This record gives sequence, C-alpha cells and structure tokens, in this order.
Amino acid sequence: MKTHPRPSAIRALAFGVAGLFVCAACFAEPDARPNILVILVDDMGYGDLSCFGSKQIATPHIDALAGAGVRCTQGYVSGAVCSPSRAGLLTGRYQNRFGYEHNLTHPEHVNPEYLAIPHDEKLISDHLRAAGYHTALIGKWHLGQSADWHLPNARGFDYFFGMLKGNHNYFPKPDNNQLWRNNDRVKQIDVPYLTDWFTQETLDFIDRTPAGQPWFCYLSYNTPHTPLQAKEEDLAKFAHIADKRRRTYAAMQHCLDESVAKIVKHLKDTGQFDNTLIVFFSDNGGPCQSNASINAPLWGQKGMLHEGGIRVPYIVTWPKRLPAGKTYDQPFIALDLLPTFLAAAGVDAESTLNPKKTYDGVDLLPYLRGEKGEARPHDTLYWRAALKNAAIRDGDWKLLRLPHRPPQLFNLAEDVSERHDLAAEHPQLVTKLMRKLNDWELTFQKQPVFMTSVYWSKQNRKKYESQFQITQPE
Ligand code: CA
Repeated sequence: MKTHPRPSAIRALAFGVAGLFVCAACFAEPDARPNILVILVDDMGYGDLSCFGSKQIATPHIDALAGAGVRCTQGYVSGAVCSPSRAGLLTGRYQNRFGYEHNLTHPEHVNPEYLAIPHDEKLISDHLRAAGYHTALIGKWHLGQSADWHLPNARGFDYFFGMLKGNHNYFPKPDNNQLWRNNDRVKQIDVPYLTDWFTQETLDFIDRTPAGQPWFCYLSYNTPHTPLQAKEEDLAKFAHIADKRRRTYAAMQHCLDESVAKIVKHLKDTGQFDNTLIVFFSDNGGPCQSNASINAPLWGQKGMLHEGGIRVPYIVTWPKRLPAGKTYDQPFIALDLLPTFLAAAGVDAESTLNPKKTYDGVDLLPYLRGEKGEARPHDTLYWRAALKNAAIRDGDWKLLRLPHRPPQLFNLAEDVSERHDLAAEHPQLVTKLMRKLNDWELTFQKQPVFMTSVYWSKQNRKKYESQFQITQPE
C-alpha cells in the first residue's frame, strides 16, 4: 500500500526548511538590517520647518534629525493630493499605471473595479514583511476601506492603529471617533491628543518588536491636515501670531516637532538610532487656503502641479550608512523609496518585484552618499491628476499642461517660484516636452490626453489665479 506523509508532517518539514533559511539569514549578520521608519506628515507647507526656511515656526528637533542625515531640497511626491500620493509611495509605481488619479471621494478618477490599490499590487509593507520585518501602519491609511482586502492588515501590515479615512478630529472621544486597532473599533481614549497618541503607539510598537527582528513602521500623522485643532499649551507658545488659523497650524507643527523628539530619543535610548533609516516628508504640498500653511518659496498649493503642490521637504537619516549634515539638491520622487528600502533591507529587487510591472523608482542611497557625482536619480519626472492636469520635469525645465490654457514652461533652476512662463520663447522645447509627456501616458493607456476642454468653474479659476506667499513672514 502506498503511504502518504501526514499533512502535519509536511508542514513540519516545510517549517523546518524555511527555518533553516531564516536562521541562516539571522546568523549571517544579526544586526545588519536597519529598521525603517517613514514619518509621513499630511498637507505640510514646503516652508513650514525652520530647516526649510520658516521664520515663524521653530522645529529644532526635526532640524536636528536633518542635521544627523541628509536634507533634500528637491524631493517630490507623485500626487498632489493625499490618496494617489500614498498609492504611488507604497507601490513604487506611478499610481496612474493602475488608474489611481484622485482621492477616493472622486471615484470617477480611481479604477472603479477597486476603489483601493488593486489587489495584485504589492506594497512596501508586503515586501518587507515577506523579508522578515515586523510591520506597522500607525495613523492615516486613506487607501480604501470598502472591502476586507482593502484594509491595512490585508496589505502587509502586522499592526494597524489609526483611521481609514483622510482626516480626523484631534481630540477623539470614546463614543465619537473613527479609530481602529487592527480590525476593532477603538472605544477607549488612551491619549487625549491624536498626534501624541500616534507617537505613543509608535514607541509601543518598537518596544513590542522581538529583539533581533527588524521593524518597518509607516507612521502616517494627519498633522497638520485640517481640522485645525491644537493643545492649549502649544497655542500659548504662538500667541504672538495674530491670525488664528496660522497660530493653530504653528502649534500643531510644534507638537509634531516634540513627537519627532520623543521618537528619536527613544531610538537613541534603546540603541537603535544608528541603524534606523528614517525618511520624513509630507504627502503633498500645503493647502495654504485651508490650513494656513506656507509653501514659500514655491508657488501653488495642494491639488496643483506647480511646485507648491508636489515638491515637499524630505529628510533622510541613517547614521550607520548615510552622511550627516548634508544637503542634497537633485530631484527625486517618493516612488524611489520602495527600491531604496529594499536595497537597505538587503532584499533582491529583481527576484522580488513583479517582472511584468514597471517600477518607476531608483535606489537613492548611492546618490545620497555622493557616490554618483553629478548624476541625477531621474532625468525626467511626470505627474498627472484627474486625467487632465499634467506636468513633466525634464532636467530643470518644467512644462505644465493645464486644461484651461496653453502649456506653460518654467526653468526651475532660475525660477523656482514658477513666475515666468517661457513657453512663447521656446516653442520647440514645448513641443518636445508635450510629446514626451504624451509618450509617458501611452505607457499606461491607449490614447494620450492632449488639450481637453473642461468646464472651468469659478472655484477653479479662483484657485489658479490666486496669489500664494512666496516669501517667509517674520
Ligand atoms: Ca495630504
């Protein structure tokens, strides 16, 4: 009689073999792999950290984090609003490739089959968890919630604490909050102010990670997204700012700075700071007209493809592997973080990533270390929002293709505030960049979008004709 091994024996054998590989990895160099911490803030202005020029808001602890690593002045996100920007960040692919061009409140611009990142897309969290990392999302998700497979625990995160939607009251109540801990609604308020609570949850997650296991934490603060709500003691520090919204925003930034201080101190106290790769940035530019943020010297705001909507402050710190006190001035994009993290974690991207998909980022580490000379991570970067507004940066030239007007052309090296449209002086360059933008669109759709005729509302006209503050207030 033919005998079959029992399923339990097969499982034991499989675990044994897997265990051999895991142990081989462990014994090879137990402390080599860094922890990875993404500190993503929400709707922060480009000019609202003191290390990025703010004269009103002192952020000494975030400045110190930059001083311990690399301050990046030309880092971009791939979307000008929250949800598509995060879809690009976590997949390492232009989110346009899977039809994700707007927030989920605009389902006509998100693939209707999903209303989430499609399930065949793997996220940074999936890759790092498969590589043995302990993973957490703490804070804002905003990447789908209408099916179980949309939720963070199904997308590579071992632990989730936070909200699924795009914003939240900063003083949650037991009977009035939208917070979740994994798959359970939160009924008890442990920390009164949400920014502080996310910070505490992060420290607890770090402490819960078993010794010797690296962790990946996607700490996604909603600070300083609206509603503008700050603690009284923080508001008191900015009593000299007359405008109430700006005063509250400054107080929220102060709380964020104190949170970064607590996290860095904890990492230092536990001996983990030197081998933790920390990336601090904002998911899109500041919406000046709603949260009183300032993007100076950039023009424009959240939702726009001018620099004020898509260029954000980045700080990249990893004392063990990156230089300290350095400023990096070449353009890159959030899509680069996936390959950067895989490289840092020693994960072979070629055998891990889906060969049928296009990944748009590059490993930034050699660039940040200065090993690439003057070479840029990208010669060309692209953006498209809601199927119409589009932009391309090629070298230092940037072309904006907006539906209500002829293309605009700016030279960012000489005009970072995009105040001097040079399109009429360089018609051949405009044609070349329009074609290049169209060629990029053809990599993920059948027809390029040329000039589209759309209803130009009074509200849109007001937004695009607004004047934004491109100098810092004292
Ligand atoms: Ca945002």
